[in-house]
Amino acid sequence: MEKRIVILGSTGSIGTQTLEIVDANPELKVVALAAGRNAVLMEKQIRKYMPEYAVMWDETAATDLKNRVADLQVEIRSGMDGLLFISTLEQYDILVTAIVGMIGIRPTIAALNKKKTIALANKETLVTAGHIIMPLSERMNAPIYPVDSEHSAIFQSLQGMPKNRIEKILLTASGGPFRGKKREELADIKVEDALKHPNWSMGRKITIDSATLVNKGLEMIEAKWLFGVEMDKVKVLIHPQSILHSAVQYVDGGIIGQMGVPDMKLPIQYALFYPDRLPMDTPRVDFTSLQSMTFEEPDEETFLGLPFAKKASATGGTMPTVFNAANEKAVALFLDRKIKFLEIYDLIQASMENHKAVQNPTVDEILAAEAETYEFIAGKLS
Ligand code: NAD
Ligand code: MG
Repeated sequence: MEKRIVILGSTGSIGTQTLEIVDANPELKVVALAAGRNAVLMEKQIRKYMPEYAVMWDETAATDLKNRVADLQVEIRSGMDGLLFISTLEQYDILVTAIVGMIGIRPTIAALNKKKTIALANKETLVTAGHIIMPLSERMNAPIYPVDSEHSAIFQSLQGMPKNRIEKILLTASGGPFRGKKREELADIKVEDALKHPNWSMGRKITIDSATLVNKGLEMIEAKWLFGVEMDKVKVLIHPQSILHSAVQYVDGGIIGQMGVPDMKLPIQYALFYPDRLPMDTPRVDFTSLQSMTFEEPDEETFLGLPFAKKASATGGTMPTVFNAANEKAVALFLDRKIKFLEIYDLIQASMENHKAVQNPTVDEILAAEAETYEFIAGKLS
């Protein structure tokens, strides 16, 4: 059966891998694509997948793209209006949110209001607006299928199981490139070192988030919303080989997990074809050549991503937004070589201490908390 998809963030890591799944599955039809500013790659994607619409966030990139594809039928749009337009089209089934950051909140809500199924990679959206998005998904009967590998593993481990019998969610983490290091060894980390993830090749922001463990903190909150569990039921386990992608421990002590080689294409494909499992031509885990699978406690004294996430979630309201927004800004500053690695933590901590949380915030209040955080950080750095 034909499945028509819209991809927000088609030029990124998750976006391009989603298109590789389209290549292998002719029943997937691309209706619209959106990206930030890479008009060159977007032109290539348009010529290959022939969507009806394409959106560039950036106005100049949109104009450039219009000229590049002037010979084609495709309609080019830009900005938030463009994202909202393609997210609410009648003629598609699944929205793949492969955009990075809180910019995904409004398109996701708009799509749910149109009863669209969401294949969700954009975890920042759930972290900041989970209290709006999850009830809306339920009310609209519009399911959200996780693309994040850990959450896909948890989702797969929940199939056919009684949801009220979950004892713990075992959320695995590779530990990132600096696992085993102590705080003083992280003082002079270079951007290049932080971008070297041991097991996964991902976008730049999430790669830095993996090095700080902020990614795992965001994932704890993401799991809380997706699976309706309390944060203290989400146990992070460092598992450097990234073979067990996460697991669910039930009240009888049984543990159901999902394993595989680290490859995002499986969780993306699973979200697109759920509940089916389609063939995929990727390497298989060979248990006999696998030297070992090891597990350890996270070092929460050195890697502050987890304690910050727990604190943000416990305070609730707009505090997870401040945690996320401060991190987004701090990571951008680190990638621009404006601050040092450990200053990412300092900026998050200062932003959270400075903020008075608003409970049960509206989207406008969430976006205001984001703006306040950016201003606060700009003020600190000037
Ligand atoms: P990326 O940086 O590789 O790609 C981001 C995409 O979003 C690009 O296409 C970019 O052009 C687009 N984009 C950015 N700002 C935009 C805007 N304002 N308007 C429209 N498009 C915009 O990022 P990624 O690694 O693919 O991550 C995407 C999301 O998926 C993130 O939320 C990340 O946390 C999550 N995720 C990624 C991975 C992974 O393996 N890469 C794994 C799990 C979860
Ligand atoms: Mg993940």
